[in-house]
Amino acid sequence: MLNNDASGRGRAARLAELRRRHEIPVLIVGGGINGISTFRELALQGIPALLVEQRDWCQGASGALSRMIHGGLRYLETGEFTLVKESVTERDRLLKNAPHYVQPLRTTVPIDAYCSGLINAGKRFFGLSERPSRRGALVIKAGLTLYDLYTRDSGVMPRHHLAGGAATRRRWPAFNDWVKCSATYYDAWINYPERLGYELIEDAEQANSQALALNYLSVVGANDGRITLRDASTGEQFSLVAQVVVNATGAWIDQLNGVLIPPAGAGKMIGGTKGSHLIVRSPELLAALRDGMVYYENQEGRVCILFPYFGNVLVGSTDIRTDDPNDVVCGDDEVRYILASLRFVFPHIAITERDILYTFGGIRPLPVSDSAINGRISRNHSIQTLAAAPGRPFTTLCLIGGKWTTFRAFGEQAADRVLTLLGERRLVSTVDMAIGGGRDLPAGGARQVWIAELATQYNVAREQVARWVARYGSRVGRLLAFVTQSPDRPLRHQGDYTVNELRWIMLNEQVELPEDLLVRRTALAIAGQLTPALIKEITALLAAERGWDPHQARTHLRLTFERLAGYHGLSALANIAIEDPFDVSES
Ligand SMILES: Cc1cc2nc3c(=O)[nH]c(=O)nc-3n(C[C@H](O)[C@H](O)[C@H](O)COP(=O)(O)OP(=O)(O)OC[C@H]3O[C@@H](n4cnc5c(N)ncnc54)[C@H](O)[C@@H]3O)c2cc1C
Repeated sequence: MLNNDASGRGRAARLAELRRRHEIPVLIVGGGINGISTFRELALQGIPALLVEQRDWCQGASGALSRMIHGGLRYLETGEFTLVKESVTERDRLLKNAPHYVQPLRTTVPIDAYCSGLINAGKRFFGLSERPSRRGALVIKAGLTLYDLYTRDSGVMPRHHLAGGAATRRRWPAFNDWVKCSATYYDAWINYPERLGYELIEDAEQANSQALALNYLSVVGANDGRITLRDASTGEQFSLVAQVVVNATGAWIDQLNGVLIPPAGAGKMIGGTKGSHLIVRSPELLAALRDGMVYYENQEGRVCILFPYFGNVLVGSTDIRTDDPNDVVCGDDEVRYILASLRFVFPHIAITERDILYTFGGIRPLPVSDSAINGRISRNHSIQTLAAAPGRPFTTLCLIGGKWTTFRAFGEQAADRVLTLLGERRLVSTVDMAIGGGRDLPAGGARQVWIAELATQYNVAREQVARWVARYGSRVGRLLAFVTQSPDRPLRHQGDYTVNELRWIMLNEQVELPEDLLVRRTALAIAGQLTPALIKEITALLAAERGWDPHQARTHLRLTFERLAGYHGLSALANIAIEDPFDVSES
């Protein structure tokens, strides 16, 4: 059995285990960050939870975030103090518990006036206005002071400071002329959110051998109290009874409720908004950012962000109301909007559509709202309980809203509700629990010494070990033990990754499709590094591991090209002819 992940269970073994499970205490539906977090919480309390995801882990909103781990400065205006406090607290915890992927991010707000926006901010705070408007230095100063106050005890981040016109222009000469001063504060960013999601699953399964997580498995029906699941690749169906169902399907919550509570569902809970981002290649823009984020308001007062990301610049995002959870293509109008907002802050740096390397987007699973302004819909999270009823013997907990940043707190709250329903109690807290490769990761100078020791122990170049530590944190020991077992070489079309490294991911991290590897287990896609030749090379490696014949390999390759063209702006891939899918020479 080649597909054998770290828990020792390959997909076939996982499915076999599922066949044996007819009654389970809790089924978590949705393998985004909130479902995953709830799964980890419950597994750690000894509950044999089952987590299922219809596609790949973190393929919905949880792979579409702006990659900020942040308090949400602008939520202070609408009085969401509890959310901001919880978010900055969780941000600081993630900096400690996942130091391999979450790092501080110096953030600068360009400001056009000292006092503007005071009246509007006051009105928004008291709910008298929803209209976005530009905020002056005083409003921003007030927000940042509160931000600092919330985290003063943890002492993880430096405090904010304001800079006058001359100092701002010296540091950011490319800012538009309207910039009169600036404020700089610290938040955080995450480089591999999908990998962190996967590591949470791995931690959960390692802590509890009865906890089981399966991707590419969806809930498709409920009848006479039994819930039906379907395997995406074989179509096999499974039927089981659960005491509690956690509906963590984000933008799909209403759809799943329709399946669980036919025919009408449970009333509308979600009012999603689409958000899209661009990855642009511009050395000039990259230099202008000076290694930090610029968090700015565009013409109409909407907040946009741009910051360096794997050598390019991440810019986003839009905020468009939609009822379709699959409506995640970044449209031409969105591209124009984002580029115009970029010109608004850096007018002399020419960025055109030709500089866009990659696009990505998702649906924010926000609570249904009649607010006229999407940016004003609460980003807070809540849990709605649907009691068991005749013919439906399970209680359903619906996880509404939330930010990536607050996944631990939200998962903890959801798990506590489940524990109460099951009559169980909490055994372990995750507040200070390191995650995956963040566990026992040496810091500072000690990390360099450790890297040198590993390089000697495994006879691998120190730079290579350092690169792998940046990707896998302290899990690098397991990787090194694997990659050094047989001859290794860099990928032919992307020398930063090696063949054995990718094989290790394929064997250990529930990879089913080439896209899982390209988009979520590695940063190749978002770093703008995908070429037809590289996609073909990686698909051929996966085909070899899985024993795909040329027809299967060609089908997977075609599908991967189509999805990357359709959903990530790589339109040139749509027309590439595939002759021999195993020929990985330059194409
Ligand atoms: C554009 C954008 C930018 C954002 N930026 C940030 C940010 O910078 N920082 C931050 O903290 N937060 C950010 N967020 C918010 C954050 O990403 C989301 O709130 C969070 O990821 C929601 O996670 P979730 O698990 O609830 O939903 P999702 O990640 O959408 O997960 C739901 C999952 O359920 C699965 N599913 C659906 N139906 C079924 C079924 N029948 N059976 C099995 N599985 C099913 C779906 O495939 C999906 O993977 C952003 C969100 C968006 C969209």
